[in-house]
Amino acid sequence: MSTTGSPPPTVADVVAVLERRYPPSWAEPWDRVGLVLGEPTAVVRRVACVVDVVPETVAEALAVGADLIVAHHPLLLRGVSSVAPTTFKGRIVHQLIKRDVALYVAHTNADVANPGVSDALAARLGLTGLRPLHPAAPGSPAHGQGRGIGRIGELPRPMTLAELTRHAAAVLPPTAWGVRAAGDPDREVRTIAVSGGSGDGFLTAATAAGVDAFLTADLRHHPAGEHLAEGGPALLDAAHWATERPWLDDLAGHLRAAGVETYVSDLDTDPWTVHADSPTPPVDRSIPPPAADDDKEPRP
Ligand SMILES: [Zn+2]
Repeated sequence: MSTTGSPPPTVADVVAVLERRYPPSWAEPWDRVGLVLGEPTAVVRRVACVVDVVPETVAEALAVGADLIVAHHPLLLRGVSSVAPTTFKGRIVHQLIKRDVALYVAHTNADVANPGVSDALAARLGLTGLRPLHPAAPGSPAHGQGRGIGRIGELPRPMTLAELTRHAAAVLPPTAWGVRAAGDPDREVRTIAVSGGSGDGFLTAATAAGVDAFLTADLRHHPAGEHLAEGGPALLDAAHWATERPWLDDLAGHLRAAGVETYVSDLDTDPWTVHADSPTPPVDRSIPPPAADDDKEPRP
């Protein structure tokens, strides 16, 4: 496929390239990865790399002449009894089949791979000395060679949490959400854990790893608050799409190295599209020192 002048690859050829790097057996048991639709013998002139298969990214893929969409998130994660075009997902299935565009998903098998989704996220932040946050369990298909969910690494220089939050917002793909953080803004951060996508499930792993901060997406009030109250690392909550979009460049590079022409979607598919800062600054949360006795007004 890499020889100039050779015939364009087929869907089956591209799938083989993808599955050498992201074997489907590495996916979590609940996940649904691999070829979703498309004839294996169909020719692929261009691959569109996207995080989400939604009408907007499908329209984009059609506009750039892609014959195959490689997505991170499964279009059909749970069982369906209909792909009628009157449903949101059925409409997409119809559109792709009618236009002869194949669809392939690499999800948790791409998360756990080395390099995988969180390596690309860590690279944006400039982290070095990468190791897995949650290594693939011994005996599991993905076990070995630095594979696992999330990455831990060192920042190029120590930063306060406030600085790191601004740094993350500057180096991650732009979204309305931006980046918010939880913890003391002046806390010094040297070692950080990152996990592309929803990282709620790895708060305990981040604490156990002894990192100074953990950057992920989809964090919630109670788990985040309790994690901090128990002395866990500071938290940075980025837009889900922004934590996974960096991986598309790595995916496309891998395909290009195999002679496959690629297009990377920069279309922000995060559901959050509007952000407003509060007009007044938040109340200072630091606990005031106890008042001296002689300051007290005499009681009547
Ligand atoms: Zn995700």
